[in-house]
Amino acid sequence: MHGPPPLKRPLLPRWLRPVLAWLGLSMVVAVSMVVAYAWSERKGFEQLDDVAHRQLDLYASTLESELGKHAYLPSLIEMDPDIEALFKSPDSQMARASAGRKLANFKVRASAITTFALDPAGTLLASSEGYRSLAGEAGPVALPSLLSRKLQAQRSQVFVANADSGASEYYFAQPVRRDALVVGIVGVKLSLDPLEATWMDLGIRSESEKLLVIDEEGVIIMSSVRQWKYKSVGIDGEEPVALLRYAEQYPRQAIRPLNMVVEKPGVRGARQVRIWEPDGQFSVHMAQERDIPLLGWRVMILSDPHSVWRNARYAAWGGGAFAAFLGVLALYLWQRRRALRQISGARNALQEANAQLEGRVAQRTGELRQANAELVNEMQERQLAQDELVQAGKLAALGQMSAGISHEINQPLTALRALAKNTAMLLAAGRMSDVDENLKAISEVAERMGSITAQLKSFARKSHGVHQPVSLVAAVQYMQRLLEHRFRAEQVRVDVNIAGQPLVCCDLNRLEQVLVNLATNALDAMQDQPVKVLTISTLPADGQRMRVRVEDTGAGLPDDMLARLFEPFFTTKASGEGLGLGLVISSHIVREFGGTLRAHKGLQGLAFEFDLELAQGEKHV
Ligand code: ADP
Repeated sequence: MHGPPPLKRPLLPRWLRPVLAWLGLSMVVAVSMVVAYAWSERKGFEQLDDVAHRQLDLYASTLESELGKHAYLPSLIEMDPDIEALFKSPDSQMARASAGRKLANFKVRASAITTFALDPAGTLLASSEGYRSLAGEAGPVALPSLLSRKLQAQRSQVFVANADSGASEYYFAQPVRRDALVVGIVGVKLSLDPLEATWMDLGIRSESEKLLVIDEEGVIIMSSVRQWKYKSVGIDGEEPVALLRYAEQYPRQAIRPLNMVVEKPGVRGARQVRIWEPDGQFSVHMAQERDIPLLGWRVMILSDPHSVWRNARYAAWGGGAFAAFLGVLALYLWQRRRALRQISGARNALQEANAQLEGRVAQRTGELRQANAELVNEMQERQLAQDELVQAGKLAALGQMSAGISHEINQPLTALRALAKNTAMLLAAGRMSDVDENLKAISEVAERMGSITAQLKSFARKSHGVHQPVSLVAAVQYMQRLLEHRFRAEQVRVDVNIAGQPLVCCDLNRLEQVLVNLATNALDAMQDQPVKVLTISTLPADGQRMRVRVEDTGAGLPDDMLARLFEPFFTTKASGEGLGLGLVISSHIVREFGGTLRAHKGLQGLAFEFDLELAQGEKHV
């Protein structure tokens, strides 16, 4: 035996599934967005870094080459005979003048700003611009002292901001020695402004990129952002160096820290920095830098990361949208598969149910057909049995009747015999008139016998089942005639209370049979009664019907027997006298007429009632 398959309990309640699906989808979308953002940001920064590094290299080499090509000038100047002559006799006005001319020559050839020669104390001996220029440009004392300090520190190059214009100027200087004695200083001054102007130009053109050149003191000496110039940079949290030491190098009022804070490290050594402006505004940059070892400087590029972040945001949205699309597609396919599976499951179940139903219908139809056949069979058998019963009842009635008939006919026969004998004697005696009387009597008796047999014939007629309007009164009269001998012999009074001459729809013979049956029973019941009255009356009934009541003054029946009255073969009569079929047959006949035969206690004896349909046009009276 296979039991039903164990019910699979769903792991999750139904309502939770879509919630989880959407939650999962949202998570996938969120994760995709984060991943896409991170990936795109990293790629963007790498790209930015590549570009920045290339730029750094370019700027550094430009700067190096720009400065480097003038580095040799002091050596050249030193070796010039006019300059040598100047240092030999520094007070000679002629030597100064010719040295000045030579220096102007150098200046033109090297496209420097100024070339100059100083005595060891830093006093200007000659310059390409005459006496005033150099002093005017760098301050009368400051520049030479700075230069000599630098030279003492073995540094032959120095950056100096022009005190007046703030322009970036660069000095190459060299001590001139004679027999290990410093006799003077020669140098050249260059302007970094053209280079810076190009960078500024570039910076303006490419808004996103800012260039800073920071010297060894941590001061921005060149910048594509004008307001940052000469600010000190303390990157990595290190404080800007004590600038006042070299304050004469830079415009005094400009030196303030550039408020640059490192926020976090970026890719490949880059750093994300935030620069606060004095007005509280800030800007965020990616900072990359590169040293220029030759000059001791750093070049720093600040690139704008916003485009990277914007692209990362786009990538995040794109990634999210793509993931959402894939997720929704997956959800759709999953739902669709589920729906298809459900549909096919439902279809299978339906087909199965259909097949089962068809099977059951076929089985039930078969059963019904069989039951029907059995029923038809049974009905036929019943009909047969009923017909047989009717016939048996008829036979019983016939038997009873034949007893009555023989009783009825015996009398006239005896009379006939006596009359015949008497007539023969009268004939012999020649008493023709008496003979004639006798013959008349014989003929009367014979006629009476004929009427009895005629009644018998009509009783034996079989019903045709066609209900025609028949006279109730005629049927009652027939019954009276048939049983007249008994009424008379047993001194029974017959009261007929039928209003008018009603016509009823039934078969006359069968109605007569019912009435004869009921009357016979009444006669039997009244046999030992002092008062013998048989009452036949009519009563109105529902609709187009009337009731016929046959009541006697007989002994009646106890209740238990009354209930069994219509059972076949129920009889209280001695064997041979009653069969117990009369009432059964009568009730059957009444039912054929569309009515019902009932018995109940009458005033004295029993009363039987049955209803009949009135013929068309008949009315209750
Ligand atoms: P049967 O007359 O052959 O016995 P019936 O079917 O005609 O068969 O009657 C059945 C029984 O019903 C009778 O034996 C009798 O006891 C009872 N019966 C019928 N009619 C009456 C009546 N009018 N009064 C008392 N008893 C009756």
